[in-house]
Amino acid sequence: MIIIMSNKAADEQVSAVEEKLAQMGLSSNVSRGVQRIVIGAIGDEQAVDQEALEALHGVEKVVRVMKPYKIVARESHEKNTIVDVAGIPFGGNTVQVIAGPCSVETPAQMAASAEGVAAGGCRLMRGGAFKPRTSPYSFQGVGVDGLTMFREAASQHNLPIVTELMDVRMLDTFLEHNVDVIQIGTRNMQNFDLLKEVGRTQVPVILKRGMSATISEWLMSAEYIAAGGNHNIIFCERGVRTFETAYRNMLDVTAIPVLKRETHLPVIVDPSHAGGKAWMVPELSRAAVAAGADGLLVEMHPCPQDAWCDADQALSPTELSALMVEIGGIARVIGRDI
Ligand code: PEP
Ligand code: MN
Repeated sequence: MIIIMSNKAADEQVSAVEEKLAQMGLSSNVSRGVQRIVIGAIGDEQAVDQEALEALHGVEKVVRVMKPYKIVARESHEKNTIVDVAGIPFGGNTVQVIAGPCSVETPAQMAASAEGVAAGGCRLMRGGAFKPRTSPYSFQGVGVDGLTMFREAASQHNLPIVTELMDVRMLDTFLEHNVDVIQIGTRNMQNFDLLKEVGRTQVPVILKRGMSATISEWLMSAEYIAAGGNHNIIFCERGVRTFETAYRNMLDVTAIPVLKRETHLPVIVDPSHAGGKAWMVPELSRAAVAAGADGLLVEMHPCPQDAWCDADQALSPTELSALMVEIGGIARVIGRDI
């Protein structure tokens, strides 16, 4: 950690900073330049209260040199981590595609969805039994019965299930239903109590990016899960909010290589909630795979126009199959497979 002080800072003010650092267990090294006084703090930066230092007289700026996340950082684990989801590896050479409806609706809809997912060659199925809707008057999801409905349909095709957990009070129910992957949605990326609780399990977690979250904030949210002992984390870029209104969110393709550099954990992309329209999904998926995504999370409905949620962004089963062929081509060009 580096503490920058004005060159007008009095000796007592410099000593006060050194004393504060000593109280925090750090030693210090003062260099007096013409323009500034720079204090190098030596020791465990994690133990430092940055704001307490910034509050001291004469201090202009406190700069951390260590990353605020440890377990999820590539610094701590150079090689890619493979997250095993019911025998399916995420983060290896294979690009894994998770597909399925936005929400669980009926047994027939889930059976047809599972059939479409398997026919397309996707290895996992998605579907929300609990839906985070902007309006309290919109369909909120079918609830616990949806988990049973989902499992029944998916098991016909041996598909592991991916479903969103919104409320910590539902965690035990998710565990009882042996949910294969817990999805944490964009709106809950910084629900720290929820993150801590899923961190106490060993269930793989897909952590979506908060719609206005920086990459650093996203990594720190993952660190909350990892700090509890659950290192089975998959990041999911799903688009961020910008000034643009021509599409639902802006897919941050740049985040893919940045995140792959910052973390050893797998990174997947949700092109459906990024574009918000089914017709954009193929192009965004191609871009994601080309940019190095380890997988995709795609919305597909057996009859998109009848979907109870996010109807205009769902692919049909035929469109999903065509997409799988297309992204298979991209994956092969960059030495991967699907
Ligand atoms: C979803 O995947 O169904 C969903 C609600 O996504 P997000 O949290 O990215 O909006
Ligand atoms: Mn959706």
